[in-house]
Amino acid sequence: MTRITPLLERNEQFARDYTAPALALPAAQLIVVSCLDHRVDPAIVLGLRLGDAPVIRNAGGRVTPAVIEDIAFLAFLAGQLFGRQLADALFEVAVIHHTQCGTSFLADPGFRDQAAVATGVPAATLEASAVTDPHVTAKADVERLLASPSIPSTVSVSGHVYDIATGRVTTTVDAQSR
Ligand SMILES: [Zn+2]
Repeated sequence: MTRITPLLERNEQFARDYTAPALALPAAQLIVVSCLDHRVDPAIVLGLRLGDAPVIRNAGGRVTPAVIEDIAFLAFLAGQLFGRQLADALFEVAVIHHTQCGTSFLADPGFRDQAAVATGVPAATLEASAVTDPHVTAKADVERLLASPSIPSTVSVSGHVYDIATGRVTTTVDAQSR
């Protein structure tokens, strides 16, 4: 018995009625970038079903170099596999930041220095990942993605904020492409 045992029992229930989705474009033609916080799971908040949308999650839901690499690869893969089905638009990337984000503690210099020592991550990197105002960081990360030369112009980007108090997602930047 480990802590995952009850979840494996849930999986047993899930697999009983399971039908494997075909390899196809994401049904929602969307990639979600969001925080890894367990209170903001996009599958639940946005009602995603299997096959709807790839979801990339990290602390804060920040557009890091690793996230840009993942999106560039997904754009390449979609073009290779389904190029003929796609007109001008590959997919939209929705950057979703949220209120009460745990990364906001990193705005405090003392907390940040302690975190840098404990994790080996440079303090500047930790500071850059902090989400104190999700409206500001969502907008900044949309701009960062749009400015990246490895993201094709067939990918559009939008920015949103999820409010933990209300469960509501509001759009701060409408979808735009380069
Ligand atoms: Zn968060």
